[in-house]
Amino acid sequence: MLDVCLLGTAGMMPLPNRYLTSCMTRFNGSDLLIDCGEGTQVAMKKKGWSPKPIDTLLITHFHADHISGLPGLLLTMGNAEKTSPLLIVGPKGVERIVNALRVVAPELPFDLEFKELSAQDEYFEAHGYHIHAFKARHNVPCYGYSIEIPRAGKFDAEAAKAAGIPLKYWNLLQKGNTIEEDGVVYTPEMVMGPARRGIKMTYCTDSRPTEHIVEAAKGSDLFICEGMYAEKEKLAKAKQYRHMTFYEAADMAARAEVQEMWLTHFSPSLVGPERYMRDVKKIFPEAHLGKDGKTVELDFQED
Ligand SMILES: [Zn+2]
Ligand SMILES: [Zn+2]
Repeated sequence: MLDVCLLGTAGMMPLPNRYLTSCMTRFNGSDLLIDCGEGTQVAMKKKGWSPKPIDTLLITHFHADHISGLPGLLLTMGNAEKTSPLLIVGPKGVERIVNALRVVAPELPFDLEFKELSAQDEYFEAHGYHIHAFKARHNVPCYGYSIEIPRAGKFDAEAAKAAGIPLKYWNLLQKGNTIEEDGVVYTPEMVMGPARRGIKMTYCTDSRPTEHIVEAAKGSDLFICEGMYAEKEKLAKAKQYRHMTFYEAADMAARAEVQEMWLTHFSPSLVGPERYMRDVKKIFPEAHLGKDGKTVELDFQED
């Protein structure tokens, strides 16, 4: 099970009732945070989630509304006596930028590790999360992220019996171990069916819509996407500043065939976003407005 919380939904600047866009996930005791603008740790506190178990931090890009909350968060993690290392992933230059911000948080009881992204697509694993970083199209280098929790196939007891595999090894094989006994090798492939559908969540802000994002988000259970502007006449502005409208986000969600989409990263000038949702849902019925603290538990689906 993957818990997902959209901590905030604001773009550019935090407002009294709208924290800056960031997203936190929890899986198997390992927490992951995407973006950390000013006030993200307050939003986390409001939600009641602790920053201490965060092992992975994914940064989309280096605009202040996505990273300026980092020194404060690191200090809070240090005060909570975090000792396990924190992996920070972001576009090329992330180590230099984080170290510059760390001038005001120099002594931490845990190590920072860095992964810098420069390719169109990068795939890596971190604490049980299978992560796909994909390039977005903003006015500075920017990445979106898909997070997947894979699911192994079903154990096939009949196949295990037929292959004469001793019962004592079944559990080990099921956990992915290969076993050798008296020169005979038993592999998980002998007893496990094909991999089943896992859980997938995709997060993308800030960007113009692209085919690349649609491909990356394909089949997600949840797609969290920026919707900077709701007013149709602001399309020109969205193009100029490399952002997206609600309708463009909905169009990508429909084409990516995701189960559900949440809009986020709202312009500070946006009031009453609900009144635009009728038109948005005509494009993609499962489009929803993100709300600060909005949470979902994504579960494996039975076949
Ligand atoms: Zn932004
Ligand atoms: Zn930006």
